[in-house]
Amino acid sequence: MKKTPFLTLEKAREIIAQIPTPFHIYDEAGIRANARALKAAFSWNPGFKEYFAVKATPNPYILKILKEEGCGCDCASYTELLLAEAVGNTGHDVMFSSNVTPELDMRKARDMGAYINLDDATYVDFLASLGPVPETVCLRYNPGGSFSLGNTIMDMPRDAKYGMTEDQMAGAINRLMKLGARHFGIHAFLASNTTTNEYYPELASRLFRLAVRLRNATGAHIAFINLSGGIGVDYRPEQPKCDIRVIGEGVRQRYEQILTPQGMDDVAIFTELGRFMLAPYGHLISTVLHQKHIYREYIGLDACAANLMRPAMYGAYHHITVLGKEDAILDHVYDVTGGLCENNDKFAIERSLPQIDIGDIVAIHDTGAHGFAMGYNYNGKLRSAEVLLKEDGSFQLIRRAETPKDYFATFDCTEFRFGE
Ligand SMILES: *Cc1c(COP(=O)(O)O)cnc(C)c1O
Repeated sequence: MKKTPFLTLEKAREIIAQIPTPFHIYDEAGIRANARALKAAFSWNPGFKEYFAVKATPNPYILKILKEEGCGCDCASYTELLLAEAVGNTGHDVMFSSNVTPELDMRKARDMGAYINLDDATYVDFLASLGPVPETVCLRYNPGGSFSLGNTIMDMPRDAKYGMTEDQMAGAINRLMKLGARHFGIHAFLASNTTTNEYYPELASRLFRLAVRLRNATGAHIAFINLSGGIGVDYRPEQPKCDIRVIGEGVRQRYEQILTPQGMDDVAIFTELGRFMLAPYGHLISTVLHQKHIYREYIGLDACAANLMRPAMYGAYHHITVLGKEDAILDHVYDVTGGLCENNDKFAIERSLPQIDIGDIVAIHDTGAHGFAMGYNYNGKLRSAEVLLKEDGSFQLIRRAETPKDYFATFDCTEFRFGE
């Protein structure tokens, strides 16, 4: 399907007059509509809740919009917990799915009354050492082996550092019950950026069966199943798009086949989606600074991999639209690059695009999740601004761009003097 940006050249120019490129921009209407579609797809489950993976887009304005749509926060660090708290998410509106967890972080999650998702059986004593254990505790599962859907190997849980074995889970539950815990959650994240509607139903059926076995082995009450993240988006125009209604229906069928006959029909379904919630509703907006013609044709942008790392890190495809040239024929082939002193700083390699001129504005698609968030300061490049395009068409700066002063802020500025 053709990928269309959610803002026009005219709107981009209006924003750029106040906020220079590069910046990430988010589409409030799209975020809200998608969150509502997710909620509707799981409305058959009265306890359903999405805990947005804060790491995907750690901006309190975004977290607040999602909170208004009924979403909590999934956090993995002390700072992410502070972000959740700042938008009024505490208690069971927070899921703490961390690993290699420092004591400070665990203590904060405990003090906030968050659901704590233990990555390992050894964390039971770690948690107990901080005080009485919570009434409800979640455990992260690693089935080992490979994880396949049909004939396709999706991932290799046996090589993943996360979670614990089934035996370790049963042991952890028994020990936690002795320590006073009464309800349990089960969590697993077995494949990332899946674009099939079968991933969640397959994961759900494995976790539902596991829940039945653990309940039978320990007598514990399983209160929720956390399907975590992993629903992907169509980064490429020719890719299929997940249908959340079909996914929700697939999970419902497995629930009724596996849990209901076991009398386990009070189990709530939780999700920790990041990419699915935000990726399509963000663009990185950038201006063409330079063009060069050597062995290939190069387009140089004012954004670089420090603003969007996925192409450099994973070779990920991000679609590019030249604003105002949406319908022009793609009769040029360009490498579209940033200015880092790293040859992997390319947003696109040998991409068919319309003729590009210096000063053109480009929208790099699907940067709303794991975009700004993975930014860094290599080469002294500064983090960009973040802008919210509101439902009424107005816009708001929701994070200013960094300045050199921010970059130097962690040095002792009495010993060294930096220019502006
Ligand atoms: C990263 C992560 C998520 C979100 O993953 P997406 O692919 O963005 O949906 C959810 N839960 C945990 C524990 C994660 O590490």
